[in-house]
Amino acid sequence: MFSMTKLDLLTSDSPGSLLLLGNEAVARGALEAGVKFASTYPGTPSSEVGETIARFSQNSGMYFEYSINEKLALEIAYGASISGLRSLVFMKHVGLNVASDVLNSISHTGVNAGLVIMTADDPSMYSSQNEQDNRRYSDLAHVPMIEPSSPQEAKDFLLEAFEISERYKVPVLFRTTTRVSHLRGIVNLGPIKRLEEKGKFVSDHSRFIALPSNSFRLKDELILKELSLEKESNSSVLNRVEGNGKGRIGIITSGAAYNVTADTVSQFDVDADILKIGFTNPLPTEIIEEFISSHKEVAISEELDPYLETKIRAIAQLKKLGSRIAGKLDGFFPKSHEYSVDIVVSSLAKAFDIKDPTTHEQIDSELPPRPPVLCPGCPHRATYYAVRRAVKMSGKKNVVFSSDIGCYSLGYYEPFEEADIMLEMGSSIGVGQGVSLATGQTVISFIGDSTFFHSGIPSLINAVRNNSRLILVVLDNRTTAMTGQEPNPGVPVNAQGNPTKEISIEAIIRSIGISSVNVVDPYDLKSMIHEISSSLREEGISVIIARRECAILRDREMRKSGVAKTYEVDLEKCGLCYNCVENFACPAISIDNGKVSINPILCDGCGVCSESYVCPFNAIKEVK
Ligand code: SF4
Ligand code: SF4
Repeated sequence: MFSMTKLDLLTSDSPGSLLLLGNEAVARGALEAGVKFASTYPGTPSSEVGETIARFSQNSGMYFEYSINEKLALEIAYGASISGLRSLVFMKHVGLNVASDVLNSISHTGVNAGLVIMTADDPSMYSSQNEQDNRRYSDLAHVPMIEPSSPQEAKDFLLEAFEISERYKVPVLFRTTTRVSHLRGIVNLGPIKRLEEKGKFVSDHSRFIALPSNSFRLKDELILKELSLEKESNSSVLNRVEGNGKGRIGIITSGAAYNVTADTVSQFDVDADILKIGFTNPLPTEIIEEFISSHKEVAISEELDPYLETKIRAIAQLKKLGSRIAGKLDGFFPKSHEYSVDIVVSSLAKAFDIKDPTTHEQIDSELPPRPPVLCPGCPHRATYYAVRRAVKMSGKKNVVFSSDIGCYSLGYYEPFEEADIMLEMGSSIGVGQGVSLATGQTVISFIGDSTFFHSGIPSLINAVRNNSRLILVVLDNRTTAMTGQEPNPGVPVNAQGNPTKEISIEAIIRSIGISSVNVVDPYDLKSMIHEISSSLREEGISVIIARRECAILRDREMRKSGVAKTYEVDLEKCGLCYNCVENFACPAISIDNGKVSINPILCDGCGVCSESYVCPFNAIKEVK
């Protein structure tokens, strides 16, 4: 979170330098590039870009919105770009799947003012369901791609990305990974650019009407642009060679892999030169040809797919270069997960028959396992507890739990275990519908409020249209909790905290013909269990909206108001059934020497554990 001082410095036009996260540097870059329009759907590891822009957008005159999904975020940014305003849209890597329909068409029509699309990829999947390599999208859409390796580059390269976008009238893909987005570094600031306040759309049917007659010609133009962009890449300052050019090995790398590769070369005294590529599509073929020609042995160090390697091997073959190339395709470098210095050095050692210098002492310290848990006071815990109880009481067997993406995904873990399927944003309803139709089993789908707006609505319409049988639990915690508490359309404030129209989830659901819709407070276990039990007896689609704000938001409010509540166990009444620990599993409750106690520092005072559905002995009491 920013102090005002840091935000003032970040938005200041005076020269200087600041310690910034890669994502904060992107936000600063947006100011320096004269971005007038920014949009996103929040997703880690890109979230801090939005968090930062949300804080300064109003004062800086930049329009910024949390769109309801990535497709819309890109469409809106494209609309602004073709109307003459520089636009930045950013998202996590899987978000680009949602926006890819737009990307693959706007690459043809082109843009007017610069349009940069930031994708924050997540090798090793710290907060994602997959580790897809979005560099592939730059080939698929035939758009240029820029990859920074540090916070300084995140800012500087963004400026260059806007220049390229405007010079060639194409959207530019700006790819970071978690280690670049979340890396901190000193960033030298540049001047802030002031651009036109208002855009103007000038109609041009030959470009902006994506009918086959236009797209046929535009595709050829796009291929021609690619040829010009290759020349640009060959002369770009974003690519550089490090070393004296006489190293035994030449290593070609980019993005976060550059950082660990450079560390490897310096820490282990590997005799190597490095070609660092920042303009990764189209590749700088001439620079690569020259670099390979001057090294008999070349390694390609890149995370995830052999993206650079496949292209570089093709260049070597076309140009008849005789150097030996080692990478993933011949099995020396791993094809999955993040790279570390140890991985790079042992891959180089295997590839080039050099002594593996990683015989340095390993620090053997086993950290105790800490499985992820829902926070104390989290309303989702109460929902999952109530669902589990109601299903058990119903005697129904083979109930299938179809979950979605959000912090409620933690319902997968013990003791709730209420996720049999979990795939991608909005999938809980669609996949649940498929399972229900195929098997006739009872399906309970869980979806968060933000995800409901993102992609749940079309799925629910589809379920209604096809007479599906489904119980849907909307876990409405009044925020987009997992990525940083961003507002969603279900709350009456926008990205900047200003009042705006609140969209009613229940009104949408009723409007598509679902009559069984009940809004319940999940802290009220009796009502929750009652509603779920009723739904389990119903046919068709029934929806329970479990509405209670996220415990973190509630804590913030309580701290502001100075009111704090906590609960304790009356040991004389406690029957030692351990239901509160084993089945409700609030992390504030633990067993010490056989006795149950509540840690007052962790307890958020929700009081759910004191209900008789959790503590049948009525032993948990509020501390006044
Ligand atoms: S649920 Fe109540 S009675 Fe059972 S262990 Fe916890 S505090 Fe004691
Ligand atoms: S009141 Fe009970 S359930 Fe709520 S946070 Fe405290 S210990 Fe956990």
